[in-house]
Amino acid sequence: MQNFGMSSKLNNVCYDIRGPVLKHAKRMEEEGQKILKLNIGNPAPFGFDAPDEILVDVIRNLPTSQGYCDSKGIYSARKAVVQHYQKCGLLDIDVEDVFIGNGVSELIVMAMQALLNHKDEILVPSPDYPLWTAAVSLSGGTAVHYTCDEQSDWYPDLNDIKKKIGPHTRGIVLINPNNPTGAVYSREFLLEVVEIARQHNLIIFADEIYDKILYDGAKHTSIAPLAPDVFCITFNGLSKSYRVCGFRAGWMVLSGATHKAKGYIEGLEMLSSMRLCANVPMQHAIQTALGGYQSINELILPGGRLLEQRDKAYDLLTQIPGISCVKPKGALYLFPKLDQKKFKIVDDQRFAMDFLLQEKVLVVHGTGFNWKKPDHFRIVTLPRVDDLEQAMTRLERFLHTYRQ
Ligand code: PLP
Repeated sequence: MQNFGMSSKLNNVCYDIRGPVLKHAKRMEEEGQKILKLNIGNPAPFGFDAPDEILVDVIRNLPTSQGYCDSKGIYSARKAVVQHYQKCGLLDIDVEDVFIGNGVSELIVMAMQALLNHKDEILVPSPDYPLWTAAVSLSGGTAVHYTCDEQSDWYPDLNDIKKKIGPHTRGIVLINPNNPTGAVYSREFLLEVVEIARQHNLIIFADEIYDKILYDGAKHTSIAPLAPDVFCITFNGLSKSYRVCGFRAGWMVLSGATHKAKGYIEGLEMLSSMRLCANVPMQHAIQTALGGYQSINELILPGGRLLEQRDKAYDLLTQIPGISCVKPKGALYLFPKLDQKKFKIVDDQRFAMDFLLQEKVLVVHGTGFNWKKPDHFRIVTLPRVDDLEQAMTRLERFLHTYRQ
């Protein structure tokens, strides 16, 4: 009898956000148990509706979206992306520099697959959004993690970045605003990263999917316009700011020293042709979203639901003895720290599983974000205040069982 094993390509690939703890939670739900889900940044199930104009546009365009489109995406969407980035100061781009994908996720994998060879290294933040590390590993490269420093509002440690650059380093990933930490980087800091990339001939991979989800007056600066002489790929999409994760609509924009990357760009074109094209109806939402009313602002300004929930989650969490947390300036998450002198946690995935089993609350353990120590976990700030209160009460109770 022939057994079918997993491809060895996947040996080092890890994506714990949808790992064994989530599988167990699903089983519990199937048995009829109610789980408080603080695990995934998916706004719609929490009652964050998409702007009506986006839905109307998709519906209206459905009858004419039946065929494949250009493998880089429909013209109107790519043109809208170009115009959007030109307004942000990225002047030297045109529609040929834009690739539309089935979400940013698909494009991240494509960007790594088209570039990496065995021994190639990509600098990836720790903690990270783990798809980046997984995509590097799947593509045969090595993710070299640079530290983001909790003591410095989770800013990346520039010295650590410099130390980790070697002859095989091809690029650096920057997630800004950051998932899971909520850090938003200043222009000065970004200029330093650009300088490092310039000196060491690195590609900058800028994941800016949370660029419009900002709190307390934080301002987002896109890195690509600061780096006209460095090859940059900027990733963004509709999932978060426009609350349509399920539409799977994202894009990447190639800018700067594209002349240095001709072969790589051919590779990207080949991979996008191989999957024919991204979901066509949903691409019609891109022009409407970028050019339309930015309803996300209502959610993040004073009185807005996302801001209120971030504040509530932060206040409740930091009142629990033994928990500290840097207040996020953007995105949809908190990444709290558990005091290791107070709690005995050796395996944080076990910790998340125990919390699920005992209290029916689902969180993601910190090592799932390529954080080295088992002393963090991530929650989303999407649930309503009542649910956040419930979850934090249960967390405090649960933590008693983990006290040293
Ligand atoms: N990048 C970051 C930092 C994310 O947090 C996510 C989703 O949570 C993605 C990319 C993937 O987004 P998409 O829905 O466009 O695939």
